[in-house]
Amino acid sequence: MIRKAQETLMTRILKGSELATTMRTEIEASIADLLARGGRSPQLVTVLVGKNPSAEAYRASIERTTTRVGIRHRPIELLVTTNESALIREIHALNADPEITGVLVLMPLPSHLNPHAVLEHLSPLKDVDGITPTNAGRLHLGLPSLRPSTPQGGIELLDHYEIQIEGKNVCVIGRSNVVGRPMASLLMQRNGTVTICHRKTVDLPHFTRQADIVTIAAGHPSLVTPEMVRPGAIVLDFGVNVLGDKLVGDADFDGLIGMVDAITPVPGGTGPVTALVLARNTVAAGYAALAGNLDHVEMVHAPQL
Ligand code: ADP
Repeated sequence: MIRKAQETLMTRILKGSELATTMRTEIEASIADLLARGGRSPQLVTVLVGKNPSAEAYRASIERTTTRVGIRHRPIELLVTTNESALIREIHALNADPEITGVLVLMPLPSHLNPHAVLEHLSPLKDVDGITPTNAGRLHLGLPSLRPSTPQGGIELLDHYEIQIEGKNVCVIGRSNVVGRPMASLLMQRNGTVTICHRKTVDLPHFTRQADIVTIAAGHPSLVTPEMVRPGAIVLDFGVNVLGDKLVGDADFDGLIGMVDAITPVPGGTGPVTALVLARNTVAAGYAALAGNLDHVEMVHAPQL
């Protein structure tokens, strides 16, 4: 399709850094409040099985973020040969340790380990990435839960830039358990009209062209091109792809500038917010430990603690 010549828009670049500064202050206040209520000082454990460069990069960003807001981070490294029962034993030990507030099992796991079988064993009260069946189910039912950090951060970025969700057509590309699927649920809760697209979607551009907001987490550089998007749309790019020595998202960022109303850059858009939501979820898990349930974890999501 040939794109008609059109007016160039002043595209807003939705950087995560401004929101990140606010979130850090709020998290520090939440930790002080948690301790004042008799909670324990929050500690996050990340579990890495084998070696994986992208998981290690994410862990490094978690380390920086948690240290900065005053959350202890303990990295655990297990051999690539670790079998399912040994990993499950480790998770049970972390569940039972009152000093540990939150546990994140870094993905992807080596291929001999089934993530679903492993995650069934993680205590929902310590599930800071919101991917146990309990937290995922509660999210889909609209009940308080620990929410997956990437999509939750995306929603907060939209809110920060005062981009309305209610009544908008939103096209969510990707249906992974950590990004696309929960993103669709969160957008629906905010009264967006959501279409979920995935690898088997026939004619992806048909759906993206109808959308006021397009969110992408597909692991495909330049999956969303200017021809696929309505002029004036909003693009939320969760993609992280290594191209040579460059990090790029899933949208053709340069091509979309001047055409869309707003777009998140990669790096520097949704990324800085993700690790902070994870840090805040660790504090929320501290409240869950104190209460013995998940009913009030979302009080940490609201600044008015
Ligand atoms: P992430 O963890 O970043 O969400 P996954 O690899 O788990 O990544 O999931 C990728 C998702 O992207 C899948 O749901 C898949 O269906 C979707 N996807 C991948 N390629 C395409 C494509 N060409 N068009 C639409 N969706 C795609």
